[in-house]
Amino acid sequence: MLFREDYQNVLVPCRGLCANTRVLLDLVYTKGDETCRLLLAAFKQVLPEAQRAGLSFGNCRTADLENTRDDTRELHGTAIQTLQTGRPDLVRRLRDHIEGALEVLLHTGSFTPSDCNEVQLPVYTPSQQARHLLDQVRSKGEPAAKVLLQYFQQTEDHPSPSNQEAPPKECLSYQKKLRSTVSAQSHFLRTYGGTSSLSLEDIYTEGQLELAQGDSEAQPQTGALGLEDVVGLVGTLNQEADTVLVSGEAGSGKSTLLQRLHLLWARGAALHDFFLLFSFSCRRLSSEQRELSLRELLFLHCCWPDGDQDRIFQFILDHPHLILFTFDGLDELMQSFSDSEQRHCCPTQCAPVPTLLFNLLQGSLMKGVRKVVTSRPEAVGPTLKRYLRKEVLLKGFSPGGIDCFVRKHHRDPTVATRVLESLRSNTALLGLCHIPVFCWIVSKCYKELLGCGEGEGSPQTITYVYLMILHHFFQRRASQRNTMGIGWVQEHHDTALHLGQLAMEGLGASCYIFTGTKLQKCGVTEEDICLGFLIRSKNLSSSTNCKHYEFLHITMQCFFAALYIVLNNNSDRSTIPKLFHLQDRQQQPGFHRACLGHCLTQQEGALKEANKAAETPNLQITATFVSGLLAQRHRSLLLLSCPGPTLDRKSKQVVTCLSKGIQKHFKSIPRPVEGEKKSMHAMPGFVWLIKCIHEVQDSRIARDTMAKLEVEHLKLAYCNIGPGECTALAYVLQHLRNPVGLQLDYNYVGDVGVEQLLPCLHVCHSVYLRHNNISDEGVRKLIEKGIQCERFQKIALFNNKLTDACTECFAHLLKMKQNFLSLRLGNNNITAAGAGQLAEGLRFNRSLQFLGLWGNKIGDKGAEAIANALKDSQTLVWLSLVDNGVGNAGACALAPLIKNSTLEELWLTKNCITRTGVECLILALESNTSVKAVWLRGNELSPEEVEEMTQREPRLTF
Ligand code: ADP
Repeated sequence: MLFREDYQNVLVPCRGLCANTRVLLDLVYTKGDETCRLLLAAFKQVLPEAQRAGLSFGNCRTADLENTRDDTRELHGTAIQTLQTGRPDLVRRLRDHIEGALEVLLHTGSFTPSDCNEVQLPVYTPSQQARHLLDQVRSKGEPAAKVLLQYFQQTEDHPSPSNQEAPPKECLSYQKKLRSTVSAQSHFLRTYGGTSSLSLEDIYTEGQLELAQGDSEAQPQTGALGLEDVVGLVGTLNQEADTVLVSGEAGSGKSTLLQRLHLLWARGAALHDFFLLFSFSCRRLSSEQRELSLRELLFLHCCWPDGDQDRIFQFILDHPHLILFTFDGLDELMQSFSDSEQRHCCPTQCAPVPTLLFNLLQGSLMKGVRKVVTSRPEAVGPTLKRYLRKEVLLKGFSPGGIDCFVRKHHRDPTVATRVLESLRSNTALLGLCHIPVFCWIVSKCYKELLGCGEGEGSPQTITYVYLMILHHFFQRRASQRNTMGIGWVQEHHDTALHLGQLAMEGLGASCYIFTGTKLQKCGVTEEDICLGFLIRSKNLSSSTNCKHYEFLHITMQCFFAALYIVLNNNSDRSTIPKLFHLQDRQQQPGFHRACLGHCLTQQEGALKEANKAAETPNLQITATFVSGLLAQRHRSLLLLSCPGPTLDRKSKQVVTCLSKGIQKHFKSIPRPVEGEKKSMHAMPGFVWLIKCIHEVQDSRIARDTMAKLEVEHLKLAYCNIGPGECTALAYVLQHLRNPVGLQLDYNYVGDVGVEQLLPCLHVCHSVYLRHNNISDEGVRKLIEKGIQCERFQKIALFNNKLTDACTECFAHLLKMKQNFLSLRLGNNNITAAGAGQLAEGLRFNRSLQFLGLWGNKIGDKGAEAIANALKDSQTLVWLSLVDNGVGNAGACALAPLIKNSTLEELWLTKNCITRTGVECLILALESNTSVKAVWLRGNELSPEEVEEMTQREPRLTF
């Protein structure tokens, strides 16, 4: 009866309980008798008996409640019910027809004039008016609901002329101006600005998009999402909310994705439903100190109207569903999202920019306008999640995407092929290239890449990749004079330090845009700017004409900050330890000041102590680069710029921090519950520490840090693990002393990631890779290695992209490994042919206990093949063929399995078995005592048959 919007209006966190209760009662009352009765029924369930009697509300009393259930059933199929179930769609249809609908309701006597006035209060947006109208209608009861439905029918048959009305002339010319502004802003890829201009059109490559809620076991892997699905209907979780979140790691392509959407809209090539699109960068909004009204925000920050401003703004207010707002980089906003902010609903009243932004995202301001916001995952808390329409995850490039990007980047196909070959021979680097920003650097530095050969000397770490771009940009300048020698870092020591200081002070102050004055203070010269690490920032609405700069990408800012920490001989000794103890910082406001030591003493402006969402991830990236720069491998490069003992001291500090950090995680592992395995669930920060250890590239350190980990199960589900993280994990975990179950469910490991994991497979007794975008190719490599690993006994690959092409390798595994225990391949694309091949392996296996094929398409033929192969098994305990199109032939073929084996559970839910098939199973169960349950829910049996069969055989579960 209540909608999410109602729910949120009632549960306002900072309002008192009594006030919330009153609002709830008012709301329920306005929704009519049925809702009052349900509220009383709810009271009846929670109140002690003595307090229940005699309660009444609206026209209902607790005494009447006995009939509630029947009445609720009656409600089904009524006009009110139709209004309720189709509500989101009706709101959309109604908002352009409010007046017409009210006229009819008034005319038929369903509404009074004061009802109409209430709906049409000027503070409501058209969508809000539509919702109020629907609420009123429901409170009036069935006749009013019928009148409204009839009205809908009529308007559909004779659409009102206002539907096809063209927007006013001023709005059309404003749209034209906005389109050309947006087009100009999005035409070139911004980060190329400093070095060369590359048009987005030429380089844009589709990234991998996935719905965030694709985590339910019951939900099969959905097809790939396209760019327009970001704004479209697919995956909508909350119809009432307007905000779509696109989340992804730094460099995963969030800004570029928005830029692409903008360009497509500006050219009229996509997003046709939106008449106007307003784009904002949170980085820029952060520097807006003035209080603004929404109107000013739109016109000042996006596009100034030449025509009648009032008319244009009124059009925006009247047609929220035709407007799209985008906000890039919510994590870079100085303040983190909070809904305890002051409520601000008036589009013409001024407020601080964060207040405007939060109210827009919540829907208190400009309800009905679709908003797309991008952010790094860490910055999105539960508060914002409550207001989301849906969340889309951006997971960087697929292997095909990398190929496509490199080919677009290098017009010369021979160069592109050489780069790709070099990447394929260095899969650690290929893994990193799934993150577009790394892919861009690698492509840009192809000469350096091709020059460094294969094997040990080739780039394996993120730090190496960033050193390549550093070298590349320095070389560009040097080549005008001469080429650089081995001491190229020393040659550019001053530049590195100046840019480093700028980067560091910026991170400490959550500042990403710098004025010319700031640059001067840090000693950054015009020549330094020309190198290309800094790019001109689009001027804010500020009246000053001074130039602003930002780093090419946030990761570049972190890299320079790390260079500064490493190269600066005067740095505070506590800088490195403080940088690594990031978690402690969360309890200490003002940490960054302490962490970044003296750098921040000259900080500009007061720093708000509000939670800075981007801070932790940025400092983590910086710490990762610090670890990498202090690696032995880069020592000779830095030694000319920094005394050996200082470098030694800093490296030691890093190693101590990493070791202590990891130990802290190990200490927090809870004692195992009796009868369960000792298990560690990775806490935030664990994967980051592992990545830092990998950057150091010293196997001794990896071994030492892992020596003390004694768990049987390591859970890393939902940890944003991509191929790059897999390289780091395998690098470290291969040193574990005791075998573990490695759980990596719901990440984006992919085939490249699987290959990266191989070095640690020998320490895994089980590998869980559910929902990881793995195809036959990845599985083939995994199994090839798995066969050689004595301890490897279990694998779970639920919800990947497996087909019949991989079943042969599983058959081989089953034949070769007579200690293999569990094979789970649910929710893939295995058919009867694949099951037939699998059966070849099962026939020779003497150890398998669990076989899961839930949600494939093996049909009767496949079930027969599997049953035949397993009929003599003395080990099988659990078999699932749920949802596989198995009919009676399959069920009857499975019956001998029940007779002979050690089987305890047989799952045949959601198939097409009828009485004949079940009779076979019952017969087999008669001579069996080991089976505990045969699951048959969702087959083709009548309720009578179910009842009769359950009585005959209680182990059948329907
Ligand atoms: P994020 O906003 O997630 O930090 P960006 O969108 O700024 O990431 O991407 C960083 C860089 O990676 C871009 O400047 C561009 O060079 C490259 N890039 C990202 N996404 C794409 C894409 N879809 N196609 C081509 N290049 C991309």
